[in-house]
Amino acid sequence: SLATPKWRRVLLKVSGEALSGDGQQNIDPKITMSIATEIAAITKLGIQVAVVVGGGNFFRGSTWAGASGLDRATADYIGMMATVMNAIFLQASMESIGIQTRVQTAFKIAEIAEPYIRRRAIRHLEKGRVVIFGAGTGNPFFTTDTAAALRAAEINAEVMLKATNVDGVFDSDPKKNPNAALLEHVSYREVTSKGLSVMDATAITLCQENYIPVVVFNLQKHGNISKALMGQRIGTLIDQ
Ligand code: UDP
Repeated sequence: SLATPKWRRVLLKVSGEALSGDGQQNIDPKITMSIATEIAAITKLGIQVAVVVGGGNFFRGSTWAGASGLDRATADYIGMMATVMNAIFLQASMESIGIQTRVQTAFKIAEIAEPYIRRRAIRHLEKGRVVIFGAGTGNPFFTTDTAAALRAAEINAEVMLKATNVDGVFDSDPKKNPNAALLEHVSYREVTSKGLSVMDATAITLCQENYIPVVVFNLQKHGNISKALMGQRIGTLIDQ
């Protein structure tokens, strides 16, 4: 049941891959609508929601760097633009069911979105608007997980909720090892020392240094976003 919310302000990270659903197309509107409806229910309870979207469903810089003369920085800029496409799509889905949203991008795309302005983002959240952050950190060589950790710290989010295609963090790769076990709780240090592939070291370190717990959970099961947003036990909790 959606009783008492645990959080007041959350940062939801949605990976690009999760948006592609069964992978038939880059974006599955069923997924974006399901995200929108879950967020709608949550914002009505007064929880402030900021979203960072990935772009891996369209383009991932590291995959393309080197191809046809693309250097890493150039490839990463294309990757960041991919995140903006997801941000605009997600915004449209949310607004179609009446959720007020703003997209803020880390570099200017003035005709389409607001530039990232921290204090304005916080103001939007206080007014109950969902803020979607696009273009990652605005810098090549970073990831949207790092962008999520950075924005979470900047807006004083109490938690980072990382929505993925898997149930959480496993002790080994569940795609390779059928006996891989889901971990309910791991420390930041274990993630780094055991090399658990959940997010990059920069992102984990930022969360650790700013005392931001991370919940990793499966986006593909309807209701999970609500559970994570409500602070119910789900997926894997990463903290001290
Ligand atoms: N990217 C970047 N700087 C950032 C965030 C993202 O250069 O701060 C680029 C990078 O090329 C990355 C791509 O954008 O591969 C898409 O982001 P990411 O791979 O993090 O998306 P996700 O895995 O969440 O779908």
